Amino acid sequence: MADKVTRDNVEARLREAELRLTPQRFAVLEYLTRAAGHPTADQIAAEINRRFPRASRATVYNALKALRDAGLVREVATEEALTRYESNVEPHHHFVCRACGKIEDVAPEAFAAPARVALGGGREVETFEVVLRGRCAACARRG
Ligand SMILES: [Zn+2]
Ligand SMILES: [Zn+2]
Repeated sequence: MADKVTRDNVEARLREAELRLTPQRFAVLEYLTRAAGHPTADQIAAEINRRFPRASRATVYNALKALRDAGLVREVATEEALTRYESNVEPHHHFVCRACGKIEDVAPEAFAAPARVALGGGREVETFEVVLRGRCAACARRG
């Protein structure tokens, strides 16, 4: 169950983005705000379905798309075919555990923006995101 702080915060963000508050949008954003990790659309749909048994998969996908277009959630860049989502839209990087598949956030300060000179070709970087691969702390401990 959502605590009041999370609920109010989610409502405020939807209002700020001038997105009409629907139960599905609220549920999706609330879930992503609370959930650790970077779930796939299917995982999100499964979770929302437990609470709204009549929410179709399409409804959840549409809610995700509306939230993404409003800048309230973002798609996480990974190499796998599955798109993952998170509600942390601030710049940050990701660590992917190759043993258990978990995706963790990495602080933005961990990497400096690539030097303009190194890019060449007149390209201008607006955002960048580094994906690190290795073993998470728990998997590394297991050896
Ligand atoms: Zn792991
Ligand atoms: Zn993240």
